[in-house]
Amino acid sequence: MQSLIPIILFILLTFTANAVSPACDPGECLQESVFNDVVQQRLEILSYVFVAVVVIVSSASVWNAIKTEKWKKPLTTILIAVVLSFLVYSVLYYKWTGAETEGIFFCNEKGCFWAAHIHASINIKICGEDYDFLLETGDLAGPHTHKERGKIHFHDKIPVDEKRNLLDTTPLTIKTFTKTTGLQFNSTCLGNYCNGDLCPDESIGKVSMNVNGNEELKYENYVWKEGDIIEIKFR
Ligand SMILES: [Zn+2]
Ligand SMILES: [Zn+2]
Repeated sequence: MQSLIPIILFILLTFTANAVSPACDPGECLQESVFNDVVQQRLEILSYVFVAVVVIVSSASVWNAIKTEKWKKPLTTILIAVVLSFLVYSVLYYKWTGAETEGIFFCNEKGCFWAAHIHASINIKICGEDYDFLLETGDLAGPHTHKERGKIHFHDKIPVDEKRNLLDTTPLTIKTFTKTTGLQFNSTCLGNYCNGDLCPDESIGKVSMNVNGNEELKYENYVWKEGDIIEIKFR
């Protein structure tokens, strides 16, 4: 019976750690993301492995104690097994759940994927006026917005090759996002204006794009990254 206590304790601690899953971002709950699914799945497998380890170690120690009739040693062994398992579990828990932006690479029968939760800031000005994207718009399986203005979210999976290069960058191009939100954008047009059109103040406008302070000539084909500050203007 005594040998069961550490096992029960371990299971309880494991479930406590599982229950304290990553908190929701302002405006969104991470439970919906592929990244989280993969992490949860890995943690689940890990907890079973550790429970199995503790059960095996405990059984062996108890078996040994019955034979030798020495009860102090097995209890120490079991305690060490529980503490070590829980420490390793905690370290991996923090490592995996904290790796959202770098994402997680995983493979299944459909191939290999990169799952991450990344964000970029996007500011659009048309003839000096701020353009606001709709909030809570876009498919969650692609780039979308939540409750904050000017912030693109992405938390789906993207196919990768064996060197972890993205096989399809389309989901992260600016055009995928602007199309989702219904805004026309390319190297010559933004919204209802195209190069050479007059703004209401009679000035001749032109489309320009800056990413993190540098001019970006890929325009709608630019593949955005975590933390990008994107500015698009027609002026
Ligand atoms: Zn989201
Ligand atoms: Zn997000």
